[in-house]
Amino acid sequence: MEEVISLVKDVFDINISNIKVIDGDVNYSSLKYSLKDESGNRYVLKIYPDEDELLLAQEESRIFNEIGSSLTFKVPQTIPTPQKSLFFNHEKGKAKLQQYIEGDLLADVQQTPELLHLLGEKIGELTLQLNKVKSPVLASRKLFWDVQNAPLSYFKIDFIEGAERRKWVRYFFDRFEHNVIPVLHELRQAIVHGDVNDRNVLVKNGEVEGILDLGDSTHAPIMFEISTAMAYAMMNKQNAFKEVIPMLKGYNKMFPLKKAEVELLADAITATLCISVCNSSEKRHFQEGTEYDLLSEKPAWDLLEKWITINPVFVTNTFLTALGFEINDAESKRSALLESRKKVTSDALSISYDPPIYMTSSAFQYMFDGLGNTYLDMCNNIPHVGHSHPLISKAISNQTRMLNTNTIYLYDEFTDYAEKLLSYFPSQLNKVFMVNSGSAATDLALRIARTHTKRSKITILESGYHGNSTLGIEISSYKFDGKGGQGAGASVIKLPLPNMYNGTFNTADEYVQDAIERIKTSIAEGETPCAFIGEMILGCGGQVPLAPGYMKALNQFLQENGILTIADEVQTGFGRLGKWFWAFEMHDFIPDIVVLGKPIGNGHPIGAVVTTSEIADGFANGMEFFSSFGGNPVSCAVAHTVLHIIEEEKLQENAKVVGEALKDKLVALQSKHQCMGDVRGEGLFLGIEFTSADGTPDSAIASKVKNELKEQFILVGTDGPNNNVLKIKPPLCFDLNNANEFIAKLDGILSA
Ligand code: PMP
Repeated sequence: MEEVISLVKDVFDINISNIKVIDGDVNYSSLKYSLKDESGNRYVLKIYPDEDELLLAQEESRIFNEIGSSLTFKVPQTIPTPQKSLFFNHEKGKAKLQQYIEGDLLADVQQTPELLHLLGEKIGELTLQLNKVKSPVLASRKLFWDVQNAPLSYFKIDFIEGAERRKWVRYFFDRFEHNVIPVLHELRQAIVHGDVNDRNVLVKNGEVEGILDLGDSTHAPIMFEISTAMAYAMMNKQNAFKEVIPMLKGYNKMFPLKKAEVELLADAITATLCISVCNSSEKRHFQEGTEYDLLSEKPAWDLLEKWITINPVFVTNTFLTALGFEINDAESKRSALLESRKKVTSDALSISYDPPIYMTSSAFQYMFDGLGNTYLDMCNNIPHVGHSHPLISKAISNQTRMLNTNTIYLYDEFTDYAEKLLSYFPSQLNKVFMVNSGSAATDLALRIARTHTKRSKITILESGYHGNSTLGIEISSYKFDGKGGQGAGASVIKLPLPNMYNGTFNTADEYVQDAIERIKTSIAEGETPCAFIGEMILGCGGQVPLAPGYMKALNQFLQENGILTIADEVQTGFGRLGKWFWAFEMHDFIPDIVVLGKPIGNGHPIGAVVTTSEIADGFANGMEFFSSFGGNPVSCAVAHTVLHIIEEEKLQENAKVVGEALKDKLVALQSKHQCMGDVRGEGLFLGIEFTSADGTPDSAIASKVKNELKEQFILVGTDGPNNNVLKIKPPLCFDLNNANEFIAKLDGILSA
């Protein structure tokens, strides 16, 4: 250090009385010293052994010295040598001497609204000055910290521990890619500091004293200056969305943002947070992370986790309103939409809630409306792995860019997916046909059964629903026995629903005997049915599990009489029941045909029929089977991804753990609320049947609970022949916190 002291004396004629090494950032090789001269003036001396770092340091000194005098706060000023050079020689490389800026790190002081407002103003000033700076050196940098380069961090997602966290990051990057990247070129650009975090800001006497470090500067959209600063400022804040507003306002006062820029802020902030957690995960993975690198890791995750639950409209409206911009009138939009909808379609196309919800986006188990509200989705079982899952979006767009055709050609996706899907079935269920909906799958299953058996009558369960096609309605008691229906037709044998709660009989055996009698009567009349079709837990019928033992015994009789068993797994399949991947497994028998839909494509329209080779062979009677869309490469890629996500995110296990906990809590509530007549179901496929004091179905309570829950931002459905059953069938990423929130709200509503 003696040589540093004598160098400073030689070059500047300054007598240094005190010198200390500053612990540097291990990512940089520069050496830093804190110096004090005899009159108490303080300096920082930096030495750059690395040529690349030197180039940047020279640019930093040039720019800070150029703009320093125009700012109302300090930026490090490099002291020129008597020869007017900013750098001088040291034995290890070039060196520079800077004036020291007094103050505490923003990280170490209380961040009051006033201080954050001031900081916003100072960042705005910085923007105004940097706007005037030209720097080919900074403009040519390509940094992964630069928000516009968010895609450079994608490969690091694999380093993130925990499938859920990887999913969040992919989701936010997806939004950035969708909303920001296409308009990057329209945004105002300039040199930006790019890293105004709480360790680069110095505070003295409640004022912003200085801003340091151009180490992450690039030429970028200007709005990323404030979005990045906001990302850092929002970490570790109780009420981050509110507390960051003064900073935004301060910035806007000095450098007014355009509405289009404000509308991109949320996606830019989350992109910064994601870049940050990608970086810490990579460092952690290679065990390279310094304390400094990992400092923001936890708060960044906390903020992202919170952010997933917040409606993007809410965030953007908060920012827009704070800056005096008008927000979209979603209320009028909703009314107009409803009017238009009435014009273009009929009331037969039903809609939930009055007024209906105008949905604008979604994330996993959350749905977001145009007004800025977040709904916890507990009733949509189609987005099985979650709404807007980024891997699903990617599967769709990737495949549609390459090839989308139909099954008259050979392509990998069909066979790859078919093999994968069949691997989830017992070995004799080894043939698959693909269609575009549950209804089409039911229809095809029956066509196969009729062709194979050369018979036509169909045995069904009371309250069952299997599809919207003409045949679907004919075999769905839920429809033909419901409003506008005309009762069972001659083509069906309807069996009483083997319901263990308030059913016709008390035991499975009685139900089975009754079913056998009815089928035998038809056989005696010369009409042996071709098949029996049923769900193992009836969904539309009111979440009713078939009496334990019923299917095994009935299936035995059906087999003996050459009647095929069709399991409708449209609602119950793909791990929703937790303990079982397919609902037929809970009844310990193997159906002849399985019908698949809803969750199979997470919302992408696909359905499938799985059967044995014997039955499939019987179906190949010369009349070909063709579906224009069934089994197309895009659908197969999506459905394959659904299975991948179920495995990667352990969603069946989640359905079991969360479903059992939720059911236990519901059962516990039952003793408190008499009207909860029955709590039933498996995994994340549960039902609460509401009854009056005398035990009769109470649709009024069910409807009130459903509507009150909606007022409290939870979506559930009601169903069953008496519409008195609350249906719970959320996306499988539904978690324990969600369950607790639901229980608390349900309890509150029922207590009231
Ligand atoms: N089967 C069951 C059990 C269903 O719940 C449904 C849809 N509610 C269908 C079949 C028909 O499926 P989709 O609406 O895809 O035609």
